[in-house]
Amino acid sequence: CGIVGVTGSNRSVEILINGLKSLEYRGYDSAGIYVNDQNGHDYLVKRQGRIANLENALTDDVQGLAGIGHTRWATHGQPSETNSHPHYSNDKRFYLVHNGVIENYDQLKRDYLSEVDLNSQTDTEVIVQLVAYFVKENQMSTKAAFLKVLRLISSDSSYAFVLMDREEPEMLYVAKNKSPLLIGLADGYNMVGSDAISMLKETNQFMEIEDHELVMVTPDNIQLEDFDGQEHHRDSFTVDMDA
Ligand code: GLU
Repeated sequence: CGIVGVTGSNRSVEILINGLKSLEYRGYDSAGIYVNDQNGHDYLVKRQGRIANLENALTDDVQGLAGIGHTRWATHGQPSETNSHPHYSNDKRFYLVHNGVIENYDQLKRDYLSEVDLNSQTDTEVIVQLVAYFVKENQMSTKAAFLKVLRLISSDSSYAFVLMDREEPEMLYVAKNKSPLLIGLADGYNMVGSDAISMLKETNQFMEIEDHELVMVTPDNIQLEDFDGQEHHRDSFTVDMDA
């Protein structure tokens, strides 16, 4: 299973598909992408089975300046198109990819989402619906809502998350706990991926993410904070491709 994300490139679809292919070795049962062209159009394409199935489903109009991609290894809910990622909120504003397991998803669902119809059987969908719920019910910003959800997730859970908000389509909201995820800094655009290999075609400059950090990635900036809003600063590093 794996994750890739990009913001600031009109080659987003190509970058996501290349990244997902390089993550195939990790195993998966389905794959999907969400891209936003920042001009009022966005596209969600998901398929069960091989990445080739996903590629075959991509029409020429599926293009974007930012996006997220995912290969799924099902843990909650059978392999199917509906259960594959990205998952989205019912208002189709928020899109989320996730690797890992949210151990307390059922409790969170009962505590907050008893009125919300879920589309899938996954633990992941609860998280994206919760973000939308807090934005709407508590009039929270996306960042505040995502932080609230991150704090509600039990510490025995594992996750690598990339969240997108249709109203802020340049921004990737990123967080991890016990699942791998890395930032990639490219020329004029930025990326996130499960490993360096998934981004090596685009860049050899990377930045680590620590567990329990919220990272906000735009085409020209990386902002790291802990869950209390304390800013973190970190140098990037270069991977020598000949090494
Ligand atoms: N637990 C999530 C699911 O079953 C994510 C699985 C994964 O890591 O791919 O959909």
